[in-house]
Amino acid sequence: MSFSQRLELWPEGRIRNLIQQATFEDVTRALTRERLTGEDLAALLSPAASSRLEEMAQAALSQTRRYFGRVIGLYAPIYLSNVCTSDCIYCGYAKRSGSPGLRLTLKPAEIHTECRLLAEYGFQNILLLTGDAPHIAPPRYLVEAVDLAREYFSSVSVEVYALDQEDYRQLVAAGLEGVTLYMETYHRDTYSRVHLCGRKRDYEYRLGAIERAGRAGARRLGIGALLGLYDWQVDGFWTALHARYLQRECWQSAISVSFPRLKVSTPRFTVPHLLTDREFVQLMLATRLFLPEAGINLSTREPADLRNGLIPLGVTMISAGSSTRPGGYSQDRANILEQFATVDNRTPAEVTEAIRRAGYEPVWKDFDKAFHDNVLPIARSPVHGDSACAPHQ
Ligand code: SF4
Repeated sequence: MSFSQRLELWPEGRIRNLIQQATFEDVTRALTRERLTGEDLAALLSPAASSRLEEMAQAALSQTRRYFGRVIGLYAPIYLSNVCTSDCIYCGYAKRSGSPGLRLTLKPAEIHTECRLLAEYGFQNILLLTGDAPHIAPPRYLVEAVDLAREYFSSVSVEVYALDQEDYRQLVAAGLEGVTLYMETYHRDTYSRVHLCGRKRDYEYRLGAIERAGRAGARRLGIGALLGLYDWQVDGFWTALHARYLQRECWQSAISVSFPRLKVSTPRFTVPHLLTDREFVQLMLATRLFLPEAGINLSTREPADLRNGLIPLGVTMISAGSSTRPGGYSQDRANILEQFATVDNRTPAEVTEAIRRAGYEPVWKDFDKAFHDNVLPIARSPVHGDSACAPHQ
């Protein structure tokens, strides 16, 4: 069964009913169960759980220590290009965003410079990003960028437009370790309302992309919903469901979930479903308890105080010192278009210090080893389901 078919088993009405009808006892059951069901997840996302965040936090802390120990991985994004032919109304890179700023695509020498600077900071885990413009940054450009980045970093991932399985396979052959691809929203009507044109309008193609990446051999798969586009409880539920599906179907890959949150409206876009900090935390805790063996990533979209507070509660990866401009680490040029403004603008050194103060070890190098020495075998075994998603090639 594809994930698209699986989603049909969990229509919005069913999820909303479960959330609205969840009782104190349902939450208690979810907090004590070893492996949570969809009904348990709905209970943890419900109003009945919102007054029990402290209990959820204790359980999340215990699960995270059990599976990940006391290490927090560090990563940084490198934006390769801000050219985009799609028009997602929430994004600064959208072709009709109206955002001022220079659009450019890094040349190999410029990618080298960005990589060298981040490697000098100590980063070993890098995420390469582009807009959706295959005529400017085609798969062969991505292959070259991955190959080049591997000269500097032990772990290279991409967050780019959705690709065919063969394209992912070529990236993996060049040394790619991970693929991050957010569905943005799983709610079909909202999806078509906010993605006005371009290839990204194809909901089904995007929905299947991360599984294609897993089948092509990517060892890390990251997903997420852009919180604020639709109801956080419903999109949060579907995101967690997707992660569990991938754990079963692509069991050789480590699955992680991110929680990018929209907060700022623009002249052409008002965030329709703003989340409070409390709702944001509830969603993260519920996801941690439903997916104890999944990584949880937190980006610099969130403020330093909130990021510090969330470190013990389920986060496993954190970005630091991020720039969302191509060439942003080496070029002091505020006139280059950025995708969004980062909120936590601490330096990598300040972030690592905060991680240490929280009693955790920041991990720059041998990231994989540090995690996997702590992760129980369950995280990489097919015990949750039937078929393994062994790479087809
Ligand atoms: S979200 Fe991605 S595809 Fe959409 S406009 Fe921004 S860069 Fe382009």
